Amino acid sequence: MTTWLAGQGTGMQSRRLIDDIAPDPDLLWLWARACRIDPARLTRLSLAFRYPNRAHVWTLDRSKAPVCLACFDEDRARGHDSYLRSAWRLAEHLVCPAHQQMLHDRCPACSAQLRVSFQFRSGVLRPFCSRCGSLLASRGGEPEHTPDAGFAAGVLDPQRQVERILKVNDDHRLRLAHAIRTLWAPLDRVDAARPTLALWFDQPGWHCPFEARAAVSTDAPFQNLPLRWRALTLIILGDLFGAMLEFEPEMPETARWLFSRAVPVHLRRWG
Ligand SMILES: [Zn+2]
Ligand SMILES: [Zn+2]
Repeated sequence: MTTWLAGQGTGMQSRRLIDDIAPDPDLLWLWARACRIDPARLTRLSLAFRYPNRAHVWTLDRSKAPVCLACFDEDRARGHDSYLRSAWRLAEHLVCPAHQQMLHDRCPACSAQLRVSFQFRSGVLRPFCSRCGSLLASRGGEPEHTPDAGFAAGVLDPQRQVERILKVNDDHRLRLAHAIRTLWAPLDRVDAARPTLALWFDQPGWHCPFEARAAVSTDAPFQNLPLRWRALTLIILGDLFGAMLEFEPEMPETARWLFSRAVPVHLRRWG
């Protein structure tokens, strides 16, 4: 469509079409002209506009963004098109504050990594799993009685604190990133195949799950982890640094002990 709008089909690189973090202003202008709406309205939809000061590294790739099934239920109940919420792209956004439920990054029907495709049903767009074709909806149970409700409540507090920290580009943001990197760094042992946070469990037999292994010792492990491991990371951070996630220069005792067990390269980055 954009190629057609541009007229000649030249000069429009496909990469520019999919950047909804900080979209190309020329592209927005084309869309706005074609739809006969104010370009400023499209600009206000971009993630960079909604979450200014936020480092892009904390925003998930579109294909990895989880969804809230209750939000989709609400769309249906109101009789309008279902749509993906911008907050679902935020790496720390794991619980829907409106519905107090964990988001889903796997299809509830086929368990594959979730990719949403939208299809028209009775004149409105409905969300489906692009792999198995199941309609994405919660089972209609009351949220407070679902098994993960207690877990979701425990994740929501640290999630709000991380959200607060990421709004300001200061030392706390650096320390948050450092703390997460250290938790997922390998233990300082020759035979270590486990991340440092394995010590938090205090269970000798605990091994790093296969799905989380790729994240160990990467520079941005949090953003590369599946949703439930991101949730666990937030819970551990809350346990180590307190409910308010205060990343002061002087680390709490337990955190200092835990971090001292990580590979040394990670220790030098604090602050
Ligand atoms: Zn929701
Ligand atoms: Zn599916």
